[in-house]
Parts: sequence; C-alpha cells; structure tokens
Amino acid sequence: MSQVQSAAKQVDAVVVGAGFAGMYGIQRLREKGLKVQGFEAGHSVGGTWYWNRYPGARVDSQAYIYQYWFSDELIKEWDWSERFPAQPETEKYLNHVADKFEIRKDFQFETKVEAAKWDDGAKRWTVTTDKGDVVSAQFLLMSTGGLSAPLVPPFKHHEKFKGQIIHTGRWPKEGVDFAGKKVGVIGTGATGIQVVQTIAPQVGQLTVYQRTANYTIPMRNPKYDDADRAGLKAGAKAMHKRVNSTFAGFDYDWQATDLMAMNPEAREAQLNEWFADGSLGFWIGSIQGVLMDESINAVFSDFVKRKIRARVHDPKVADLLVPDDHGFGTRRVPLETKYYEAFNQPNVKLVSVKKTPIVEFTERGIRTTEGEQELDIVIFATGFDAGTGALTRVDVRGEGGQSLRDDWNQHGIHTTMGLQVHGYPNMFMTMAPYSPAAAFCNVPTCLQQQVDWIADCVDYVRKTGKQAIQPGAEIENNWLAHHDEVANLTLVPKTNSWYMGSNVEGKPRRLLAYAGGAQNYRAVCDDLKAKQYQGFEIA
Ligand code: NAP
Repeated sequence: MSQVQSAAKQVDAVVVGAGFAGMYGIQRLREKGLKVQGFEAGHSVGGTWYWNRYPGARVDSQAYIYQYWFSDELIKEWDWSERFPAQPETEKYLNHVADKFEIRKDFQFETKVEAAKWDDGAKRWTVTTDKGDVVSAQFLLMSTGGLSAPLVPPFKHHEKFKGQIIHTGRWPKEGVDFAGKKVGVIGTGATGIQVVQTIAPQVGQLTVYQRTANYTIPMRNPKYDDADRAGLKAGAKAMHKRVNSTFAGFDYDWQATDLMAMNPEAREAQLNEWFADGSLGFWIGSIQGVLMDESINAVFSDFVKRKIRARVHDPKVADLLVPDDHGFGTRRVPLETKYYEAFNQPNVKLVSVKKTPIVEFTERGIRTTEGEQELDIVIFATGFDAGTGALTRVDVRGEGGQSLRDDWNQHGIHTTMGLQVHGYPNMFMTMAPYSPAAAFCNVPTCLQQQVDWIADCVDYVRKTGKQAIQPGAEIENNWLAHHDEVANLTLVPKTNSWYMGSNVEGKPRRLLAYAGGAQNYRAVCDDLKAKQYQGFEIA
C-alpha cells in the first residue's frame, strides 16, 4: 500500500453523485455489506432534480414509472399528485427516500470529487476532493449523471453583459423575478421549451433564440385523485415487471400496427389516437418504423408539422417553428404545454439564429446580424456535454496512470455497455455512453437495472476473494461493434444533437445510447452475470 493509500480514509466503495442512481447505489452496496462513502457537489440529494430547478422543469415520464421499486412500503406511502410532476415534487420524493433509508449519512455534500486514481499495486482507487478529502476505496461508482455537465457556448463578449446570465442546469435556489423584465432564452430543446412556455406569461418581453426547431408532443397531465393513486399502487408490481420488458423502460412499447397499409383517413385517426395520449408514447410506443424507415418517419414528421402550424397565428413564425432539417424522433422529442401559443403573444419574439446568427453579447444585451436586443436576463438553455462530460471533468486515472479524458480523446469514447471501461478496473458507471440509460430509456428503469447489476458484480468479486474486475479488450470491442451496427439500423445518426455528441465542439460523433432496446440490454447484462462475467478480467 502506498503512503497516500495508508493515510487515506478506507472504505469499500466511493459513490460519486447523489442523484437517482447514486442514492440507489448507496442503498444496494450497503445491503451487500460494503462500507461506502458518497460525495455530492450540491447541498442535498436529487442530482438532476436538485440542479434543474428552472421555471417549468417537469418530468416527461409518468410519475408511476419514475420511481424506485425496491421498497413496497415506499411505493405504498408516496402519493404522486399528477401524471407528469414538476421538479419540486420529484425533488421532494428523492429527499423523502433519502430520509427514509438514511441515505444522507453516507454522503458528504458540497464536496466535488476532483480526481480518482487507480493504484495498480494496491488494486484500489484513491479519490480526492476539493475539500481536501483523501479516500481509498476498492470500488468506484461514478453515478455522475448523463446530463449534468452544463454547456455554455463561447459567445463573443459574453463577459461584457451587465445583466444576469443563468444556465438552466445551475438555476439559483432562491428563484428569479421575471416581472416586467426583458428576458432572452437561448436554446429550444426540452429545457428551453419548458422555460419559454412557463415564463412567457410572467415577463415584460421575451426573445427566444432558436437554432434548430424541434418536433414536440402536447403533454396531457391530469391530476391524480385517491382512486387513481390506489389503482396505480395496486398495479405497481405488474408495472415494475412491464417497464423491465419494454424497448425504452416505459410502460408502453412498440406496436404491431401496419400504419402504411392503412388508407389516409384510418392512418390519420391512428396517429391522432397515439398523439392524444399526450406522452412520449407517440414516439417510442407507436411503431418501430418511425426510427428505422424513412417513409414511415416522413408520415410522423408531416403529422407533427401540421399540428404545430395549426397553433401559430403568424405563418412566418410558424415556418420557423416547424422543423426543416431532420425527421421526427431522431432527436429527443420534448413534451410541451402551450409552447406554441407563447409565440402568439405580442411580447414574445422568435429569432432564428440560423438566419440571423448571434454576433456578440453587448453590455446591454445580444447583438445578432439583424441588430441589438436589450435584455435584463439571459437564460442559457443550451444543454449539456452529455454522457461523458461529468466523467471527464474528474481527473480519472486508470491502469498505468492513463487519463480517461486523454484516452477517450485519443482513442474515441469506449465503454463496455456503459458499465465499465477497459483499463479502469473496479470503476463502474451509470448513464454512460453505449447503454440505453444514456438516452433511450425511462431513466429510473435503466438506472436501477444498472445499479443492481453493479452491486451483484461487486458482490461476486468480493465473495470469490478476488480484488478487481474490468472488461477485457475483446468484449469491449465486440460491444462497440454491436452498438454501432444497431445504431446504423436507425435514422438517429443522420441528425445532429446531443445524442450524437455533435453539440460539443470536437466531440467524436457516435450515437451515445445503445439503440437495441432496454429489455435486450437487460438480457445481455443478466447473461453476463449468469456466466460469471465471461470476457471480464478478474484478478
Ligand atoms: P439540448 O436538447 O441539448 O438543447 C440545447 C439547445 O440549445 C438546443 O436548442 C441547441 O440548438 C441550443 N444551442 C446550443 N448551443 C447553441 C448556440 N451556440 N447557439 C444557439 N443555440 C444553441 O439541451 P436541453 O434542452 O437542456 O435538454 C437536454 C436533455 O435533457 C433532453 O434532451 C432530455 O433528455 C433532458 N430533459 C428532460 C426533460 C424532461 O424530462 N421533461 C426536461 C428537460 C431536459 P441545436 O438544437 O441547434 O443544437
């Protein structure tokens, strides 16, 4: 053991991040008898639901599948108020779970992990933080989130602006007063859309800077009454089974409907029926051809374009709001509520930065090629360095001192099923590239599956008296080849978005999430466990 190792606090596992996965990681690893130490940069638990407290933040998965399944008592006692709860309710739920299962006692908050270094001799990780902690652990769980490293585009003279700039992923806890203010929102992804539709009625004047128009689905968000809740709780066991068996970890799944064989009226009626559910079911609970077949995709695209156009009064504004450069569902489809109606308000202006690009920030606002717009507040709804950002912002060093950041820069991003990386023994990840969790999954379904697999794997290593596990080079290469093959069967790689890494300059362009289905991924994971991690190096 090195001097650093012996001076360090000794634990069995370090868990980084107190979001959905990290909290569950603590719970499951403790159950397996491990001594754990968690670190979280925020003041409390919640992860995404701690940081993203921007106006209108709301989940796009139904509440009854956006929860933990490990405790019947928890399911019985927690009451969801509506189908798609807003951020405060989900944050409250996660705090309730943390209290009930005493998760907090194993986390140190307001502490950022700066580095994690693997010691080849001791076969342990040394984790260091910005608060001076040095912890030695056999296992490292990086539950750092897939959408947690905010992206701030390098706008010229951004620092000159005298007003307030806020990234949605770092929203101030005390909130922001918009009354009478001139507000600019940059970005119209799932986040920007929620912000715009929420603050449009509150602000003095709103300018929305859109680069790419998105397809959307109107959210249907009924309140639950006691009878609804009782029904959902009674059906929870069956629901748990169901979400584990579907393509994207939702309760809906691909249907066998032959849409293209229908006459135009029947087809329109079918599309309207799916659309009226007001959920992501129109996308990943309709027919798989929507993601695989250009002609089917064109039918969906045309349908949604007509729906958008019908709601916008000014046809010139509608032209800008209708997507023109990609097919429906090849990037994340946001749910919206009265988003398009916001653009019918006289105090809301849409600026296409494709047509009139942002030239610079000024002291007073933003200047595009069309002129200067005065602003008091600029909201960056500009997204995240998805999948890899949170991992590479930590100085992770694997075997032989290899830096994960350099490794991925030089050799491309590589993982084995988004769970481990060859060359980084005993390091596990959730929501990392090349698992469905990275994008094509109801996040809690996939995160719980991954954490369960990780906890079982760690337990196996300990019980067999071994010290370390990592995927062999062959299994990793095989997974990457399979991942690419499946990705290329879909239309997704044809479109730019964070799914492809194209929102980050210089990031290798490769589909981040495994597109072969969460249920198939689960089967591969289960098989690996049953075969005692064949293809992994266990020392
Ligand atoms: P995003 O989807 O990456 O959207 C970022 C937006 O910023 C895009 O409109 C992008 O334009 C724009 N942008 C980026 N750089 C720009 C620049 N230099 N100039 C002008 N515009 C720029 O990020 P997000 O909206 O935060 O959403 C990320 C993901 O978080 C979602 O896809 C979803 O998975 C998750 N999310 C979920 C929910 C929910 O469940 N309800 C809510 C919010 C977010 P381009 O499109 O042209 O790149």
